[in-house]
Amino acid sequence: MKTKGIHHISSMVGDAQQDVDFYASVLAYRMVKKTLNYDDKTMYHLYYGNHDATSGLVTTFPMNFTHQGIVGSGQLGIAGFGLRSENFDFWKKRLKDFGIETEEYTRFNRRRLSFDDPDGLELELIETDKGQKNEWSFNGVESDQAIIGIESSLLYSKKPRETLYLLTEIMGYEIINENPDYYLLKIHDELGGILELAKRAPGRGIPGVGTVHHIAFAVENDEIEDWHEKLKMAGYRPTEVKNRNYFQSLYFRESGGILFEFATEGPGMLIDEDLENLGEKLITPPHFREEERALLPEIQVRTIDEL
Ligand code: ZN
Repeated sequence: MKTKGIHHISSMVGDAQQDVDFYASVLAYRMVKKTLNYDDKTMYHLYYGNHDATSGLVTTFPMNFTHQGIVGSGQLGIAGFGLRSENFDFWKKRLKDFGIETEEYTRFNRRRLSFDDPDGLELELIETDKGQKNEWSFNGVESDQAIIGIESSLLYSKKPRETLYLLTEIMGYEIINENPDYYLLKIHDELGGILELAKRAPGRGIPGVGTVHHIAFAVENDEIEDWHEKLKMAGYRPTEVKNRNYFQSLYFRESGGILFEFATEGPGMLIDEDLENLGEKLITPPHFREEERALLPEIQVRTIDEL
């Protein structure tokens, strides 16, 4: 039994409309679901992905009044999006035009454009030839230029050796390269099958706005209960399997302090909206009453030329 790469990355952000403007309009990553936080109806839970929500998702919890966090150990450090190499210059210019500073560098022979989102989350666009074309085009990004999906991420573990053990001995990742500072790990050859792990823990991360809340790894639909058992046997303390409507999930904090989720691939984001209208209406989870949506500020996906 092996996990199947990155399912989604969930972060805490500040203002909801600013978040929508950044991910849906600047990055042109499609809003594929607009719902309420399953555990807190006063908060949105926004999902962004490729045109049909089949590649890695970014999900955000806009929490206007919470303190700023600090990115550091015990957290996911960088979320990496895949991009075709011919589109690097387009994105460099596009981000600059929106007033976003980028830095270009290469690690493990992978060319990247590094930048922060408006709340301080660390993001990268990484050159890749993997993944299906993202058919989405919006706000000046044609589908040929679009971000393809979540490509990889960098983990800042407080105990890198123990995290490495979990990834390789329990989840099925292989080390495919390393340098003095990082391991490069792979679980499969498709988009989202790569992880990087920092060998030395950076300063302690503090949860809050601008930090990643958790990273979710995909698992087979019929294996989630087996994973629950396997993790328990290995000494972790997974939650019970929870119904997240679009997938079934369990959560556990790994030894390096990072919150991991294992999530089934199905039933997926198309269960309550068709492909054409994904993300357009506010979906109220079944255990909340309809009128509770009134607690939230209006947000909209809109064309913008500045942030
Ligand atoms: Zn999640």
